[in-house]
Amino acid sequence: MNYEGMIIRPPSEANSILLQVTVGCSHNKCTFCGTYKGVRFKIKDEAIIDKDIQYAAENFPFLRRLFITDGDALILPQPRLTGILTRIREKMPWIQRVGLYGNAKSILRKSLEELQELRDLGLGIVYLGLESGDAQVLREIRKGVSPERMIEAGQKIRAAGIKLSVTALLGIAGPERSLQHARATGQVLSAMDPNYVGVLTLMILPNTELGDKSERGEFHLMQLPGLLRELREMLFYTDLTRGLFLSNHASNYLALKVKMPSEKDKALALIDKALQGDVRLRPEWSRAL
Ligand code: SF4
Repeated sequence: MNYEGMIIRPPSEANSILLQVTVGCSHNKCTFCGTYKGVRFKIKDEAIIDKDIQYAAENFPFLRRLFITDGDALILPQPRLTGILTRIREKMPWIQRVGLYGNAKSILRKSLEELQELRDLGLGIVYLGLESGDAQVLREIRKGVSPERMIEAGQKIRAAGIKLSVTALLGIAGPERSLQHARATGQVLSAMDPNYVGVLTLMILPNTELGDKSERGEFHLMQLPGLLRELREMLFYTDLTRGLFLSNHASNYLALKVKMPSEKDKALALIDKALQGDVRLRPEWSRAL
């Protein structure tokens, strides 16, 4: 397969074929993100993508899922994306689900009918980085979208019949705004009602704007137990009709897998126990992004 630069994918796509159709991220402005720093965003040539689809068809007949990378593949013009999904279906009819990252702007650029067309061609899940539901935090981290637009984007994916997985970031507001960020994020998640919520904990990367801010003492990395309180507040304010609230990413201190809504109270009680020091947390040395 032809891969350029760093390839990232959600943890749940660990066993998926990774098909790179774009290089970098069309937004590339988030202050905490160093994944594509210095990488010029581009859509790869059709011939290269076709060759990769052919290679995957010949070599991965045992894999049932495919994930389209890089950062924001939903930005592709509709004919390019439908063409890619069609070729995936023709060459690999055994693929049961195609997933990709889509930011709120790219989702909102597509009409509901276009999203439904993508769903009919096999797009089964979109991963959306919310990070925070707090308007001030979203502005500060340069996410480029308001909470209202985030909600609109999430609801549009759900209305199109595509599964939605949304990430939120503990610690991104810093200690002063922590609980406000947690509450607002829970409220936005509730309004989106995604199938999956994936919580990550901020780890500051040196090659980022946030890394520079932290070095200058203008941003303070949150520690325990504040992060547990933030997680508790976020979960408390998150009401989903169904789905999973997960904090099992390697960056988190406390791993949760909460079936919503039935296991929410049990999970809140577990966080309370952790706050009292009665639950084993992930040691610092084993945390990773
Ligand atoms: S967090 Fe996502 S949208 Fe923001 S710069 Fe990184 S890849 Fe792009």
